[in-house]
Amino acid sequence: MPELPDIVILARSMDQALRSQSIASVAVHQSKCLNRPAEDFCQAVVSRKFQRAWQRGKWVLADLDRDWTLAFNLGMGGEVRLHRPDEVPNPRRERVVFGLDNGEQLWVHFWWFGHVHLIPLGDLNGHHQLARLGPEPLSDDLTPQRLRQMLQGKRGAIKKYLLDQSFIAGIGNVYVQDILWHARLHPLRPANTLVPADVERLHRAIRQVLGEGIRWGGGPREYDVWGNEGTYTEHLQVGYRTGEPCPACGTVVEELRVGTTTSYLCPRCQT
Ligand SMILES: [Zn+2]
Repeated sequence: MPELPDIVILARSMDQALRSQSIASVAVHQSKCLNRPAEDFCQAVVSRKFQRAWQRGKWVLADLDRDWTLAFNLGMGGEVRLHRPDEVPNPRRERVVFGLDNGEQLWVHFWWFGHVHLIPLGDLNGHHQLARLGPEPLSDDLTPQRLRQMLQGKRGAIKKYLLDQSFIAGIGNVYVQDILWHARLHPLRPANTLVPADVERLHRAIRQVLGEGIRWGGGPREYDVWGNEGTYTEHLQVGYRTGEPCPACGTVVEELRVGTTTSYLCPRCQT
């Protein structure tokens, strides 16, 4: 499932590949991924030019010249991939196919269910899912002071809040493991018991781990628009490393199952 670093990488590559290209055609093979009738959708986007692509939470936003933003959400996983003019998409696999004016194609695929929404330009707050997103963790909006205020009175486990998109946008179950390890926090630690020094460490860890994820091109089975896979897996500290030594103290990394999610932690560093 793509998380913030994966989406940043995809958005950057789309920005580079699509900027100033126009949409010549659209084929919708799964109309339920749209937020308006397919006919209206196609009419609105055909002949529009891509202005820029950027990231918000787990969404890639592509602004089109005048009037619209295309909002892509890959759900549990998927791809937005550039293809050559002579390649033929499988309509059962590709949910939406954009033809570009240079002949290339942009294929959108989800494993389960995702979204290709059309939002009036500049009106992200009018979109029910985007409007609910918490602050961007890499922006100046999220200061240690603000994070401390946000955690006040929160009695649940810290990990739960980090994964809550309305609390902070973009973090998921891959990057959260190393964030908690860098912050020296047990995933089940009640959020309101964090002292200012804990919050400072957590804030630093969020920025460091997400920044590393971007530096290594995103996580496993996450791709940019040209199909290059992320290599962050090689740089995971404790995430998905059950039985291996903690990079800081050598203690064996343990797995902790709570509900449907698994945590990976060093029992010595994260008490
Ligand atoms: Zn350790």
